[in-house]
Formats: sequence, structure tokens, C-alpha cells
Amino acid sequence: MSRTTTSETTVEISLDHPTGNFWVDMGLVVLSNHFGEGNIDLCEALEHLIGRLKTERGGWIYPANQFINTQARPETLPNKLRSRQEVCDICGMETRCIDAKMWMYPFVVDPQKFGTFYPSAKRGLKLCARCALAGLAGYLGWLYKAQGRDAIHLFVFYSPDLRQLLELYRNVILPFQLNQEGGTAPVAFFGPYLHEATLGLLLELFSHVEKSELLSEEGQALLARILGEDPSTPPAPLFLYVITGKPGQAFNMQQFQEFTRLHALYQLYKRWKGILTHRVEIQDPHPALVQVFRQFQVRRERQYETFWRDRIAWAILEFRDPFPFVEAFLFEGRAREKGAQPLAFGTLEIFELYAKEVLTMDEKLLKTLAGFGHNLGQKVQESGEIGILYDLRNTKKLDEFLKVLEKIPFRLGLTIPEDLTAIESGEKIMGSSWQRVKTLLSIYAMNAYLWANRGRSE
Ligand SMILES: [Zn+2]
Repeated sequence: MSRTTTSETTVEISLDHPTGNFWVDMGLVVLSNHFGEGNIDLCEALEHLIGRLKTERGGWIYPANQFINTQARPETLPNKLRSRQEVCDICGMETRCIDAKMWMYPFVVDPQKFGTFYPSAKRGLKLCARCALAGLAGYLGWLYKAQGRDAIHLFVFYSPDLRQLLELYRNVILPFQLNQEGGTAPVAFFGPYLHEATLGLLLELFSHVEKSELLSEEGQALLARILGEDPSTPPAPLFLYVITGKPGQAFNMQQFQEFTRLHALYQLYKRWKGILTHRVEIQDPHPALVQVFRQFQVRRERQYETFWRDRIAWAILEFRDPFPFVEAFLFEGRAREKGAQPLAFGTLEIFELYAKEVLTMDEKLLKTLAGFGHNLGQKVQESGEIGILYDLRNTKKLDEFLKVLEKIPFRLGLTIPEDLTAIESGEKIMGSSWQRVKTLLSIYAMNAYLWANRGRSE
């Protein structure tokens, strides 16, 4: 074999040179896990991957079959490389390239620019043999969760430190893939929407640091290190890419999201578990925490409407304000149910911690709102003046809010805490926007109302 032929049929796998593309880099990790680093034979590698991606009946395995056409013939890759030198769009190497097909790259997307999928690209994507091969291997590196025919979520973890990513793949992702029925990702809960499913996956992942039937002790220790269990040693960057779409003949991509703050979320998760253990005195805090987030759904005929849960999950994952969605859930979802129940045990504590630490709300203000909201909800239940809660919830302007507050002493005989009517510049109350104060008061009051109502009906 001449030297030119050799260079045509081998590709170099190195973990020291990430391409920066999450899909191709995950593919490189999958390849190096099997073949090790160094030069590998292209045909042999293709044969191996095709073997793992095909079913006994000759089709492509699910959910790769959503992307790889039945007509695709990856084994012809070596013959399809053009003879002239071109620049690979993924790694930037000048070498022989091929026009990317979907089997090589399921979503041609720049993670910075959400929504720019072009699997049917007009311009076309040029890939070198190595990136095309890694693109095929990428189908072995993801986790997925399907919600019937409504949605499928694809999860790809990523770190530009490919040695760390290899460890994660070997010790966490592979066991997750292998141990679940049909290869689906373990999730604490899921639904048709991207953010709820992502929060469901992350809560489940986090729980495996402490207790796991899927991971080895080494796997657990690795996960702890990667998530930053020890805050004194900064962990390598860790990202999660989530793609949600409708399954069918071919995948219909609807949403693509990059999550970058997994370490901060893990710290929050630990703080939440601590609060549930010490303040709420729950023995086993993980299931209780899961229940806090799972509860934001309402039964509609045969299905659950989980829209609110998705919005709350979005807020948590992005470190934004979840309270308008909690309020909307209570008033538009929960309160309209037959025998409506208050929020799950521990919910208010979980969200108070979030309000304090993430939204930097004043602790004294939170206490005032909790106390007054509680009394308000109870009085409303006793007096049957439920309209006041809806008036409060529906206020759109500060003066409307103050007018609703003014009615309370006359109609319910409750004194308004002075703090709540001391308006600061910028329409703020003790450093928080009046809207947030109003929203939290609605939540506390409606929740107390539901508690009191439950007591009465029982
Ligand atoms: Zn390349």
C-alpha cells in the first residue's frame, strides 16, 4: 500500500484537538472509547459504527432512524471524498472533503444561534473524512426521551475538555444508555416540552451523585467531580444541548437549547435538599424535591397539561423569575380543579430559597409576604370573598395593587403590613418590583386558601 492510499483511508483520532462542535466532538469521544487515540482505518471504523447502528432487520436503530435515511450508505464514504483539497466546515482542516448528508450530521447548527437548522441546507456543509466519521459516531453518544408521538427530546452533554467528556461518556452516559428500557434516558419527570424534560433529566442526574443503581462507585465519584461537588476546585466547563422535535418519518426539529450553568444548578439542588432535610424535616429530600417540580401539571381529559411546568423549568434553568408561572398555575390550573389541593409540602421553602439567593430578594420582605399571605388566604376562605384573590392576581398597575390592598382591612378586617405600602423609587417595595411582591402575595394567599378549603371539605 502506497503512502497516499494510507493517508486516504486512515483518520486521526485525538482528544487534544476538540473541534468545538458538540456533535462531532461527542463522536470523537465515542470513537476513541472504542478504538483509542491515534490513526484508525476509515473502512474498519465505518463498519463498526454501522454494525452498532443497524437493527437485526437491517434498518437504523431508533432514534437514529429519525435522521439516517433508509437509503443512506455510510460505507461509501471513502469513495465519495472529492480529490481536490477543501476546508472542512467543522474542524477547519484543508483536506479532501465530502458534502455532508444527514447521516453524517443530523443538525447543522451553530449553538450560539438558536434555530438555524439546515439539514436540507442549500449551501451545503463540507466535512473531512474524520468529521464525517465522528458525525456518524455521534448517534451513539446521546440520551433521548420520547413522549409518545408528541415529542422526542435528544440530550447531548458536552465539554471542550474531551478527556473529561470521554470519562463522562464511559462512566455515566453509557450506563444510562444501557440500563434503561429501550435505551431511554432516566428522567425524574418529562412531558412534551423541552425545558421540563431537561429539568427532569438534570434532577435525576444530580441524584446519582449520592445514590445510584446505575453507576459504579467510580462513575458516581466522577459525576461528583464533574458537577463541582467540591467547590474549592473549579470543574471543567460542562454543557448540555437539548433538541426537541416531533418524531415521524423524519425528525421535525422544533427547539434547540444550550444549557451552560449546570454547576450552579447542582449547587442549588444541594441547597434545596438541605432545606428540605433541615427546615421541612423530610427524611429523603430528593423525591420530595422532584415532587415540588413535577406538581405543576393539570389533568386535561386523558393527558396532563404541563405548560406551566415547562415555563417554571425554563425560569429555573435560566436563573430567571419563575413566580409569574407559579401564580398562573395556581389560579388558572390548580384552583380550577375539582377538590383543588395546595402546593406540595416543601414547595414554598424551595421557592423562598430561590427568591433569596437567585433573585436576591429581601429576607424580611419574604417573611412579611409569607405571614400576611397566609392570613389573607385563610380570611378569604372563611369569608367566602374569593374575588379579592382574583382582583389581586389581576392587578396590572401599582395603583390598582394598592387599591386592592386598601379594601382588605374593610372587607376582611386584616391590617396591611406597613412594609407593603412603603413604595420606593422605581415602584419598588423593599428592593423588589411591586409586581413580584404582588405575585408572591397572590401565591401565598391562594395556597393558604386552598389549605383552609381542604381542611373544611375534609
Ligand atoms: Zn473536519
